[in-house]
Amino acid sequence: MSYQDDDEEQMGPHSESFPKDFGYGHSPREANLESKPRILLMGLRRSGKSSIQKVVFHKMSPNETLFLPSTCEIVKDDINNSSFVQFQIWDFPGQIDFIDPTFDSDMIFGGCGALIFVIDAKDDYNEALTKFKNTVTKAYKVNPRIKFEVFIHKVDGISDDSKMESQRDIHQRATDDLSDAGLHQIRLSFHLTSIYDHSIFEAFSKVVQKLIPQLPTLENLLNIFISNSGIEKAFLFDVVSKIYIATDCSPVDMQSYELCCDMIDVAIDLSSIYSTEEEAFDNKTSSLIKLNNSTVLYLREVNKFLALVCILREENFNKQGVIDYNFLCFRDAIGQVFELKIRATKHMDEDIEVSLMESPNDSVVF
Ligand code: GDP
Repeated sequence: MSYQDDDEEQMGPHSESFPKDFGYGHSPREANLESKPRILLMGLRRSGKSSIQKVVFHKMSPNETLFLPSTCEIVKDDINNSSFVQFQIWDFPGQIDFIDPTFDSDMIFGGCGALIFVIDAKDDYNEALTKFKNTVTKAYKVNPRIKFEVFIHKVDGISDDSKMESQRDIHQRATDDLSDAGLHQIRLSFHLTSIYDHSIFEAFSKVVQKLIPQLPTLENLLNIFISNSGIEKAFLFDVVSKIYIATDCSPVDMQSYELCCDMIDVAIDLSSIYSTEEEAFDNKTSSLIKLNNSTVLYLREVNKFLALVCILREENFNKQGVIDYNFLCFRDAIGQVFELKIRATKHMDEDIEVSLMESPNDSVVF
């Protein structure tokens, strides 16, 4: 296989210890990063790992990824753009041999929160599945708490039927492989993704949410907020990445999510052009878009990194005062969640008080 030949060229034989110049070490900065929940991004070479990382976290447009050089080192990308989203992506070059005995799996998998394995759906995935099985087996032995996430990637331009067929086939084979290895208890999550639409952001949102210990509290706050404000759907967004870190309990449909993502882009772009302030997103940021189907999109800044984007019917926006008041209560509560997070080490336990005004329109059915 060509990738194994390249492997020898770039890394030298595997009999030596894990090469230092692959970015594997313990500088003080790295030691600090390692205290954060860590996401590992793995998969064969050219499966799309670097592209995912660049598109989701570095605003690269999908077309530009065509010119990305293939990954040949572990990229420790410290995603620290939101207080809720603090993690690293370790973009492993596809050719690293994970089952090499010199590979320090305790260190790699030990503090890992989630392992995303990227499989190129447009390619023959036999090899990817073998590597997946080996990686999961190894990782699970070291750290059974890892969440295993499979991104069936590059599904753009594939019909819905073929997508479902690939997912069914990959799911079946991956779980069979693990059962054969005696690991039927491992739970795998599968996501169909592409960098050319919002599916990659949606999938990343789901992965990140599993690593947020405060998620139930955030969801609860969102539920209370929307039910008292006549709002149909609300997303709490990490503005920079457009990952939603929480939403209320009603089901998410992709169209609503995409609308809200687009709204963030519009608000930030306009603000960057016309604002006299240095920051395009600050505590005065808010935006209102009325669609021609009697729906309103409403965006408010929650803190430096987070925005709340709501979808509601136009008639329910008549009592904007109530919505705004409830929003302030919601924002306070989020502030308290943050504070608790900071004080958590001191074992402080406080109740979060939320008192919201009643719905502006009692006849609304959610
Ligand atoms: P890596 O070696 O795993 O880091 O892979 P790269 O990120 O370098 O991607 C390999 C190639 O796949 C690049 O030409 C990307 O443009 C392409 N690619 C990545 N994601 C997608 C996707 O979602 N759809 C399609 N069609 N191509 C993609």
